[in-house]
Amino acid sequence: MRFDAVVIGAGFAGSVAARTLAEKGKKVLIIEKLKHLAGHCHDCRNESGIMTHTYGPHIFHTNYQDVWDFLNRFSEFRLYQHKVLSYVEGNFVPFPINRDTIKNIFDENISVNQMEAFFKTEVRNSSFQNPPQNFRDVVVSQVGERIYDLFYKNYTIKQWQVDPEELSTELANRIPIRSNRDYRYFTDRYQGIPKIGYTKLVEKIVDHQNISVLLNADYFDYKMDLQADQIVYTGELDRYFDYKYGKLEYRSLKLEFTTEKQEWYQPSAVVNYPNDYDWTRITEFKHMTGEISNTTTLCYEYPKSTGEPYYIVMNQRNINLRQKYWEEAQKDKHVIFIGRLAQYQYFNMDQVIKEVFLKLQALEK
Ligand code: UDP
Repeated sequence: MRFDAVVIGAGFAGSVAARTLAEKGKKVLIIEKLKHLAGHCHDCRNESGIMTHTYGPHIFHTNYQDVWDFLNRFSEFRLYQHKVLSYVEGNFVPFPINRDTIKNIFDENISVNQMEAFFKTEVRNSSFQNPPQNFRDVVVSQVGERIYDLFYKNYTIKQWQVDPEELSTELANRIPIRSNRDYRYFTDRYQGIPKIGYTKLVEKIVDHQNISVLLNADYFDYKMDLQADQIVYTGELDRYFDYKYGKLEYRSLKLEFTTEKQEWYQPSAVVNYPNDYDWTRITEFKHMTGEISNTTTLCYEYPKSTGEPYYIVMNQRNINLRQKYWEEAQKDKHVIFIGRLAQYQYFNMDQVIKEVFLKLQALEK
């Protein structure tokens, strides 16, 4: 069968691209290596009836009106403001750092107005490169070494298994520093979890007469038989080019799910463990979904270097290598690369969808 477009991958990048093309009258095939839709956003109910995120917690947040409107065509969202606590020195304290974190950890009865001066003193007593050259420098230049050592250093080493001085400054921009008492992890205008779940949301996105879906099939096994005017590739960038310049690094996670016979386990959806235990964080899904049950399911995350690629690794080697692949990717206009893996960028879900909109609009010009 002939298709106008072949989309590789059925996560947010692939499904939204397929839908957008289908609504323009194109016949689209989605081919997905995994056995299910929704890529790494996949969720399902476990044997206790609790909705869990198969590949770790996904909290949707965006300031993009068009992305929000698009998704709301397919599902309502449960409005949920994500909160994270960090387990530090035996206390559960707010993270990102805010006024209450400082009060709890340093026993300083500090007002919001005094926070700036507090950080300034911490920074003055610290050493770092200025202007900042890496992840550590950025964080220390904002909050000083004491806070960096307690909240960031060991979490980052656990997560990336490298010296934080080898990681790009960009990584630090994901986490704000607050002088006020705002506990929210994200401050975007729209935040929430799809009421029907991510998998059903994606099922609805691809439910269109012009879209066919082939699951459990690796594009590279069928590449020769799948010619189309438009290819949308959402898999790993280096794999598309047969690793011709070398392998990009990805990080993965071992996810351990447990169900406890108690209503609640921890005070917030996510608790980070920068300094204790081998896991980086524990997620308790019911906080996000609002489900009611006498039991509760948790997910422990143990970072690792092999397995499903979840994260890109932002160090200089990968950034240089990515540049080479990006240049290669520009050469063939009938293939577009979208998403965290294909663009090798640490995108959030909404950024991926925005990329789809922008890249498909650019094609029409
Ligand atoms: N981070 C940290 N301490 C924390 C949480 C995050 O040092 O308690 C750093 C760490 O390097 C992490 C990065 O900030 O990889 C980004 O964190 P985010 O919560 O955005 O990670 P994700 O949810 O994408 O896994």
